[in-house]
Order: sequence, then structure tokens, then C-alpha cells
Amino acid sequence: MTTTAHGVSIVRTCPVCGATNNIRAAPISTSGRCHACKAAWRLTEPILVDEASFAAITRNTRLPIVTVFCDARSAPCRRMAPDLHELARETSGRAIFLKVDTEQHPQIGYEFGARSLPHSVILRDGQVISDQAGAVGQAALRRWLCAYVDPSGARPLCPTVFVRLMNGFREWLSSLTNRRADDDDATSIRKAARA
Ligand SMILES: [Zn+2]
Repeated sequence: MTTTAHGVSIVRTCPVCGATNNIRAAPISTSGRCHACKAAWRLTEPILVDEASFAAITRNTRLPIVTVFCDARSAPCRRMAPDLHELARETSGRAIFLKVDTEQHPQIGYEFGARSLPHSVILRDGQVISDQAGAVGQAALRRWLCAYVDPSGARPLCPTVFVRLMNGFREWLSSLTNRRADDDDATSIRKAARA
């Protein structure tokens, strides 16, 4: 199943009845019900985006967004695809996975410096918070993601100690760059309240 987005609409085929559902992209809906058979659905797969939907989703989503720039003809990109699907399923509701075909939409790739494909970035509030060039295996992808994706899911991505270390590192980095100070304060307060 391929879920694709055009502009502010995401087109998703219902796996139960095969009906086409138009899902809101901005802000993105990560769950709902099929308009035809009423089966509940959750967004568990990467979304193939164009320029307009990439902009709409990344500007209006608070969740971390994992974007992978790839070329359908590239063997490393094809090898990485099943691992991306698996991690998108595991982190459903906690992260959004987007795929950009750089043959069809080269401009987004240029903007993010995607020269060696696949090239992956994690975005939050429209800013790149981490990037990774080249193909990596599922274990390495999971380790990379676990520092940025809320670990509170039924199946934690990585050991809690590692998450705490990485959260400490991220706070230290953000204090250095002093970016979005207000947002960081709010996050720290929420974290302190949760601890
Ligand atoms: Zn349906």
C-alpha cells in the first residue's frame, strides 16, 4: 500500500474495503475511520509527498518528522524501504514518516543537501534536528530515531538510559544554540512535570 500526499490532502487506501480516503495533511490526521466501511485506521506507513504536501505537513505538525529522500531506481533506497515501513509502524502516533522521490521533486532534496541517497533528516517545528546520509540497517535506524521519538509507546524503541542520555545531550545542545528558548523552556517544564 502506498499512501501519497498532494497539497493539503493525503490519499490513503483503506486496507479493509479498498476505498480511497482523503486525510487532512495540515495539521496531519494520524488516525480516523474509513468513510466507506467505518473501520478504524492509524497512520502506520510512510507518506510519499510532493513539494506542497511536504511544506504543509512539516509546518503544521508537532511530532518529529522523519523524511527520507530517495530515488525509486536506487538499490540502497529500495533496500531501506521495508525498514522504514517497520519503524513507521512501530512509532505510529509518535512520529511521522515522509518519503520524497528526488527524481520527481528534486527541489526539496537540494534544500536539504540530499546528495548521497538515501538521505534522512528528522525535522521538528520545521527545523532539521538530525540528519543521516546513506543507507543504514534497521537497528542503526532505530538507535538514531530513539533519541528523538517519544519512548512512551507500547514497545520502546531503545533502553530508557539511552533516551535520558540523549535527552540530556539535546538539552545541552539547545542551550548552546539558544534557539527557540521559549519552546525549550516549555518542554523542560513538561519533562520535569512528567519525571
Ligand atoms: Zn474501508
